[in-house]
Amino acid sequence: MEPFVLEQETSLLRIMDWEKQFPGLVAGFTTRKGGVSSFPFESMNCGLHVGDECQSVVENRKQLCSTLQFPFEGWTCADQVHGNQIAVVTKSESGRGRMSMEDAIPGTDGIVTLEEDVLLTSFYADCVPLLVIDPVQKVAGIAHAGWKGTAAIISQKIVETISNQLGAKKENLRVAIGPSIGGCCYEVDDRVINRLVENLSPGTKGDWLKDKGNGKYDVDLKLVNYYLFIQAGIPPEQIQVSSWCTRCRNDLFFSYRADGGKTGRMAAFLGWRK
Ligand SMILES: [Zn+2]
Repeated sequence: MEPFVLEQETSLLRIMDWEKQFPGLVAGFTTRKGGVSSFPFESMNCGLHVGDECQSVVENRKQLCSTLQFPFEGWTCADQVHGNQIAVVTKSESGRGRMSMEDAIPGTDGIVTLEEDVLLTSFYADCVPLLVIDPVQKVAGIAHAGWKGTAAIISQKIVETISNQLGAKKENLRVAIGPSIGGCCYEVDDRVINRLVENLSPGTKGDWLKDKGNGKYDVDLKLVNYYLFIQAGIPPEQIQVSSWCTRCRNDLFFSYRADGGKTGRMAAFLGWRK
């Protein structure tokens, strides 16, 4: 079953299963539809770092918060660098990066929090969003995993941060791996494959990789992250993986590869309301 369910009237994907089970939780992923930005960011661009009008992006973000009935003051994001740093968002970091890149949490691809009314967000055009919650202690965490972040095992880093610094038990964690470029559309070379293989246990199934010959491979990054979360100690039945491919569904999603680099960003969003 697809965890990220498209709501027709809002053009948002929501993790319905989580939101139903855990009152107060807001969890999902935006699409490219329903915002005010113009070409090539049409229309729901949530990223301030891609050259869109700042005003349009802030308007899109405010509109999302209004739809989610979440205070915009709690919108918190980082300046993503394809690394594996994880930052803990406390009350004093709440709201950073919501209006401007300048006060975004610097050089960070994963953010976690124990605070209510903090809406963690991160931005995507083909990379893999990793959403982690602990419904017992009401923890939220988001990590941005392109191939570099995946290879730098940001999946394991976010699990370790949540369990070591926020006191959550690994067996209570739930993971949702969100829409991204799929194995159908993501061709890479040996250099990428070698970096990914290094981190996977020798016994891991090879179904994340298709050898096309001539040093070219199709890779399912969502599946790689799934295996890495299992290696990090998350029970497999608590990990859900989206089947949406951002490149196949370029009508619904911004796709770095399909749009030739210059495009908008979807937001993954996750938070607990008071
Ligand atoms: Zn595809």
